[in-house]
Amino acid sequence: MGRFVWGSVVLGFVLFMAVPGAFAWSKEGHVMTCKIAQSLLEAEANEAVKNLLPDYVKGDLSALCVWPDQIRHWYKYRWTSPLHFIDTPDNDCSFDYSRDCHDSHDAQDMCVAGAVQNFTSQLLHYREGTGDRRHNMTEALLFLSHFMGDVHQPMHVGFTSDEGGNTIALRWFRHKSNLHHVWDKEIIAQALKDYYEKDLSLLLEDIQRNYTDGIWSDDVPSWSHCNDLSKCVNMWAKESIQIACKWGYEGVESGMTLSDDYFESRMPYVMKRIAQGGIRLAMILNEVFGDSQEGFAAAT
Ligand SMILES: [Zn+2]
Repeated sequence: MGRFVWGSVVLGFVLFMAVPGAFAWSKEGHVMTCKIAQSLLEAEANEAVKNLLPDYVKGDLSALCVWPDQIRHWYKYRWTSPLHFIDTPDNDCSFDYSRDCHDSHDAQDMCVAGAVQNFTSQLLHYREGTGDRRHNMTEALLFLSHFMGDVHQPMHVGFTSDEGGNTIALRWFRHKSNLHHVWDKEIIAQALKDYYEKDLSLLLEDIQRNYTDGIWSDDVPSWSHCNDLSKCVNMWAKESIQIACKWGYEGVESGMTLSDDYFESRMPYVMKRIAQGGIRLAMILNEVFGDSQEGFAAAT
């Protein structure tokens, strides 16, 4: 930690960057990640998050978790566009921070793994914060919350030449889509339609049941264990590229039609990644805002 303190220098440097093609977990994916996280906050983190959110969301973090996608093409925030994903070498199925965490101009740390670390470092200043820092702290919270979702979306850690599946055009059932979008949105939308009466809260309840008292409940302690944030983030990105290889790209070619088989077999991975993203976001926020002196990131 401590390597990633970005400020106006970086901001000035990156204003001219091209807009990449990758998008993000759909709104639904980010909303669920943030709702899970907020439900797991301890008292201090809960208080801090509510303090940092603008009044109009009435304490609901999930209402702003998609904000970084909405502003990424604005002039002021264009520098954040490369922070939503990682491009890894084609077919390598691995992630190496020093090799892969850069933007298209080779600026180091400009990827979603660097962003999670950077915005966590920024939030660590909250406890010593003053009034005039409040605005930045709010943005840091929203960016961190969003990027914890993105780093868990397997196709956000995809291959370079196809832009994380964005250029793999295909059909999803009867309509046109692409492989990246299938993982961002189509699988979630299909699940909502087929199984949850299009009600996001029912889907969310199912995911929450799976980790509180269901198929994943034994795994939760290992998901949220972290002594060294940079190592953990790298591991989460590695998990994503490995799922992308095995379940995202495998057997898929441009021009194909993906339907029931693909949907049914991949849906559990999508749901699990949303759960992991939420649980781990809560873990970070509890560390950052809690009063433990020996958290993973205290070295900053
Ligand atoms: Zn994103």
